[in-house]
Amino acid sequence: AINYISMEFLSRSSNEGFARVAVASFATQMDPTLDELGDIKTAVSEAVTNATIHAYPDSLGKVLVRARIFEGNILEILVRDWGRGIPDVEQARQPMFTTGGEERSGMGFTIMESFMDHLTVRSKPGKGTTVVMRR
Ligand code: ATP
Ligand code: MG
Repeated sequence: AINYISMEFLSRSSNEGFARVAVASFATQMDPTLDELGDIKTAVSEAVTNATIHAYPDSLGKVLVRARIFEGNILEILVRDWGRGIPDVEQARQPMFTTGGEERSGMGFTIMESFMDHLTVRSKPGKGTTVVMRR
């Protein structure tokens, strides 16, 4: 059956757990294995963490997370922000590319890509970033 949830929250790092658990809870109706649920949680966590840390480095802003189920058993997760944006998406998606300095490993997009079947990243500097993942 077709179904969706949508949530909007402030880019506080404490809200990352909320988004991760909410999407995982929504996904349980697809009867995922615990492994699959873990993968989904990890992917959401990486995308939402990026939207809090990188999108709004010196301020707080809006983060939108939407999850939908369609065509029987496809789960699509959208994470959007209206923050700084990414000047070169192709470069940002490379394993180990980071602008986050020493404490970041630059593996977020690589993890999202490997844990989900499909990842698209759209971004405009100064306008924001939209990440869509499917599995
Ligand atoms: P890690 O995820 O391993 O902690 P990271 O966040 O730097 O490190 P990625 O998640 O792969 O690694 O992101 C790569 C780079 O893309 C980031 O360093 C940042 O420059 C940019 N980026 C990612 N998401 C966003 C976003 N929502 N807004 C602005 N820049 C972003
Ligand atoms: Mg990251």
